[in-house]
Parts: sequence; structure tokens; C-alpha cells
Amino acid sequence: MEPSSLRGGEADEAIQSSGRDSGFLRSARNDAATFRRALVLGGSTEARILATRIAADPHLEGVISLAGRTSAPLAHDLPTRTGGFGGVEGLTRYLVDERISHVVDATHPFAARISANARAACAAVGVPLLVLTRPPWLPARGDRWIEVSDNLAAAGALGDNPRRVFLAIGRQGVADFRIAPQHDYVLRVIEPPNADDLPPCCEVIFGRGPFALEDEIALMRDKRIEIIVTKNSGGALAYAKIEAARTLGLDVVMIARPASGDAPTTHEIDAAMAFLAS
Ligand code: NAP
Repeated sequence: MEPSSLRGGEADEAIQSSGRDSGFLRSARNDAATFRRALVLGGSTEARILATRIAADPHLEGVISLAGRTSAPLAHDLPTRTGGFGGVEGLTRYLVDERISHVVDATHPFAARISANARAACAAVGVPLLVLTRPPWLPARGDRWIEVSDNLAAAGALGDNPRRVFLAIGRQGVADFRIAPQHDYVLRVIEPPNADDLPPCCEVIFGRGPFALEDEIALMRDKRIEIIVTKNSGGALAYAKIEAARTLGLDVVMIARPASGDAPTTHEIDAAMAFLAS
């Protein structure tokens, strides 16, 4: 079940407007017995919420890590580092150099490479790892889902006849839809995509969730969308398009999550905090 603390955009805004308190400044007050230095692998709403909880806990210090894909990332309440570590080797070195005691992988469920790197690096140096992720969406009554394994399968599932397609997959991977150039696409992104990646008929629109149901319905009508392609990201912020499709009787091509590995996993912020206290 999805924790109520992860629902809606209000939480995000509250977090962004709350005060900054550097966890590292508190390190001198932590004695050896209670020392906890968390690395939170971020890029998700869950990571921002967890960062706020860590910043408010006098027994914890932490740093949040972002890949650096977004030019204006939302603010976090913890010190933030940006950019890749340099694979498993680089992340392993970082854990040692920064004396990280716990890692929470709170990356987006489709960020498979960094999650695999975290499993390998943590195993290499014996640092405990917890995956914090949102539960996937499940089909509800009235949903018309076509479930596929990846972007290329999604492009194939659109069929041979030209259709008006709403792509809610982000800008990474849009090039996979070039194999189906017969469709008219509307791609919604936060950052501009690479023009060379786009299928021939593709309108790009910009937006960052949360999205309201009535706005999503209006958008689908305005753009005369016939079918939606989305990743099964889960969570409330991006769910309105699924509800809009249900309301309008539209098909949804739902891309399944990549394999998630065998690290302990939770959907609950409280469980992540208990892990950091362990
Ligand atoms: P990915 O394929 O799993 O990662 C590619 C490389 O980017 C990793 O090997 C790592 O470089 C670096 N990286 C990724 N996340 C990082 C982080 N939090 N901190 C530092 N380095 C990171 O990831 P992706 O799908 O490109 O996603 C990139 C970021 O965007 C993730 O943090 C994710 O949470 C966020 N995001 C992804 C999606 C999505 O649909 N994939 C959607 C929303 C947000 P090194 O090997 O050099 O360490």
C-alpha cells in the first residue's frame, strides 16, 4: 500500500519551502556509538521526503546524490552532490572515502543501472542497502492496459494503423519510437529532448507533475489522443493520466519495470528511517 505521505503535490511544495539544515554540521555532536552517515540515491519524490526526515533527525547526517539530468532540480533539505560516481568502482570508493554507514536507493524505479551499481558497491564494502520505491500501479476496473516489457515493445504495441499517441515516458528512450513513424506523437517532458531522437511527427510539450485529472482529460481531448504510452512509475504525482485514460476509454500501453534485484525493499519512509537507525 502506498504511504499517505507520498501522495499529492502538497508534500513536495512543503518540502521545498522548509528550512535548510546541513546534516554534516551536526557531525561533531554525534558520538561514535550513534554515528550514521546516509547516502540517499535520489531523483524521486521519495528521496526528497526522506531527505527532509533525515535533516530533521539529530542522530543522522546524510547526503543526497543526483544524476544531474535536470538543469533545475527541485531543492532538497540535505547537502547534495551531483553527477555519476564512475560506475561500481567509483561508488565503492565514494562509500569508503565519505565513511557512508547506510545507503538508501531512492532512485526512480526505471533507473536500473545506478540501482545495480549500488547493490554491487554496497556488497563490496559491507554497507547496508535499502531500496525505497513506490509501489507500481495496478489496473483498476475500466482500465484498458496493454502491458509490455520495454519501449520497443511499446512502439510495436501501437499497431500498424496511424494513431495519435501521448508519450509519457520522459525524453530518454523516445528514439525507440522512431521504429513506428506512422503515428502522430505528443511527448511530454521536463527538459528539451534531443531533436534527433524524435519520431518524424512529434509535438513536444513541457510539464512537471503533479497533474490534475481535469487538466489531463482536457489535454487528451485537446490533442485528440487515442492511446497513451507510460512507464509503470507508480505513485500519485503522475497517476492522473491513468485516470484520464479510464475516464475517456483510452488504451494505455504500460511499460513494466525493469528487474529490481534482491536488495531489501520498502515503500515506507518510516521503514527507511528505521533502517537508518539500525
Ligand atoms: P540509470 O540508467 O540507472 O543510471 C545511469 C548512470 O547515471 C549511472 O550509472 C550513474 O552514473 C548515474 N546516476 C544515476 N542516478 C544517479 C544518482 N542518483 N546519483 C549519481 N549518479 C547517478 O539512471 P537514469 O534512468 O538515467 O536516471 C537518472 C536519474 O534520473 C536517476 O537518479 C533517477 O532517479 C532519475 N529519474 C529517472 C527516471 C527514469 O525513467 N529512468 C525518471 C525520473 C527520474 P555512474 O555509473 O557514473 O555512477
